[in-house]
Amino acid sequence: MPQVYLPDEDTIAAIATPPGEGGIAIIRISGKKPTEILERVFKREGKGGVSEMESHRLYLGHIFDPESEKTLDRVLCVFMKSPHSYTGEDVVEIHSHGGYLVPKRILSLIFKHGARPARPGEFTLRAFLNGRMDLAQAEAVADVVNAQTEEGLRQAELQLEGVLSRRVDEFKETLMDTLAEIEAHVDFPEEDIDQFVREEMIQRLARLVEEMDGLLSTYEEGRIIKHGVYTAILGKPNVGKSSLLNQLIMRERAIVSPYPGTTRDFIEETIDIKGIPLRLVDTAGLRATADEVERVGVEFAKKKAEEAELIIAVVDGSSELDEDDFEVLNRVQESEHVGIGFKPVPTLSQNIKRGILVINKSDLPQKLSEERLAGILPEGRIVRTSAKLGFGMEELKDKIYEVLIRKRDRMEGNEIIITELRHKVAIERAKESLLAFLKAMKRGESPEFLAIDLRSALDFLGEITGEVTTEDILGRIFSKFCIGK
Ligand code: GDP
Repeated sequence: MPQVYLPDEDTIAAIATPPGEGGIAIIRISGKKPTEILERVFKREGKGGVSEMESHRLYLGHIFDPESEKTLDRVLCVFMKSPHSYTGEDVVEIHSHGGYLVPKRILSLIFKHGARPARPGEFTLRAFLNGRMDLAQAEAVADVVNAQTEEGLRQAELQLEGVLSRRVDEFKETLMDTLAEIEAHVDFPEEDIDQFVREEMIQRLARLVEEMDGLLSTYEEGRIIKHGVYTAILGKPNVGKSSLLNQLIMRERAIVSPYPGTTRDFIEETIDIKGIPLRLVDTAGLRATADEVERVGVEFAKKKAEEAELIIAVVDGSSELDEDDFEVLNRVQESEHVGIGFKPVPTLSQNIKRGILVINKSDLPQKLSEERLAGILPEGRIVRTSAKLGFGMEELKDKIYEVLIRKRDRMEGNEIIITELRHKVAIERAKESLLAFLKAMKRGESPEFLAIDLRSALDFLGEITGEVTTEDILGRIFSKFCIGK
C-alpha cells in the first residue's frame, strides 16, 4: 500500500545528493521555519546573521552544534524565500563537504532543531501542492532523474517543461467550451439545441476523439523509451549467443546492470540502442538434453523467452538447421503470433512480442539454406552477422530499432509522446466518455444528460495534470521518488 500523504505544516529535511564520497553534499530544508533552524546552527563568516541573508545568495560560514559548541563543517548556505523556491515554501540548502559522515551529522542536527525527515518525493509533492508544477510535470521530475538514455531524458524534459500538460489543457478547453454551450441550454429547457449547433458540436468532439487517438498511439513507443525492452537471446549451444551479446555490450554504452545474474547460465545487461534501453538476457542454450543441470538451464531459458518482449533467435549459418534450431525458431514464430498479452506488471501491459532472427558465423562457408526459413518470420526480420569479426552489428541494431519503434504505429504530427500508463488510461477513459457523449447527442438526449459525459471526460483529463486527484494516486506517484527529491 503506498504511503498516504497529507499536506502538513512540518519543516522537512533530507540530504539531496547521493551518499558516499563526493566533492559536496547538499542538505535541503523546506517548510515554515528553515531559517529559524539555520539561525541556531549556522554562523556566517564576516558580518551579519542569518536574518540578514538575502534570498538566492550563497553565504559562507560554519555549521556548529550549539550544545557542544563544536563546528561540524565549513559550508555554503543559500536561503530561497517563498514562493520563489522549488517547493514554493521557504527553502534552505546547506552545501557541505561530501562523504558519508559530514552530511549525516548536519542532517541529524537539523532534525534535533525541529525538522522531520522528508519522505520520498516530498519536496516535489509540496511543489505540486503549492502550484509550482502540475502532476504530470511532477512525475517528469522522477523520469528526468531515472532516465536511462538520451531519448528518455529528452522526453522527460519535454514533459517537465509542460508540453504534455499543455496538450491536455487544449483538450480540456474544447470540452469546457462545449460544456458551457450545453449548460446554457440546461437553464432554458424549452429551447432545444439548434440542429446546426448540434452538428457543429458533434464534429468538434469527433475531431477531439481523433486527436486523443493520436496521442494514445504514442504510448507504445513512450513506454519502450522509458522502461526499456526485455530481450532474450535464444539459440542452441555454440551458435554464438554470448559472442553476440559481448559484441553489443562492447560497442554500445552499457547502462547499468541492476539485475545481476542469478545463475551461471544467465546474465543480464542493459544497453542503449538508439535511445531504447534494451535489457538483454543471454540464456543457457536451448536444446533437448538429458543432463539435469543443463535441463534446469534450458527450462530457465524457456521461461525468459516467455517473459521477453523481444526475442533475438540465433542460428549458425555454417551448418544446416537441425531439430534444436527449429525448436528455437518455433519460439520466435510463436512470439509473433502471441499478440497482445496482459501482464500484471504495468510496464509490461500491452506486451507485444517481437522476434528477429540472426544468422551468425557468416564469415564461415555457409551451409544453411534460406528456403527452409521461408514463412517462419515476416520478411525483413533476418540479419546476417559474424559475432567473431563484428560484422552485421549495425544492421542488427537498426533492425532492433525498426522492429520496436514502428513509426507507422504512431500517427502523424505527434511530437508529444505519452510514457506513463496512468496518462494513457486517463485519456482512454476521457475518450470513452466522449464516445458516450457523441452517441447520446445523436440520440437527442437532454442537455443535463449530455453534460454528465462531458464533465466525466474533463475529470479524467484532470487526473493527468492533477486537478482531480486522490491521496492514493499521490501516494503511488511520489512513493516512487527518491528521498530528497
Ligand atoms: P553460445 O554457446 O551460443 O553462447 O556461443 P559462443 O558465443 O560461446 O560461441 C561458440 C563458439 O563459436 C566460440 O568458439 C566462438 O568463438 C564461436 N563463434 C561465435 N560467433 C562466431 C562467428 O560469427 N564466426 C565464427 N567463425 N565463430 C564464431
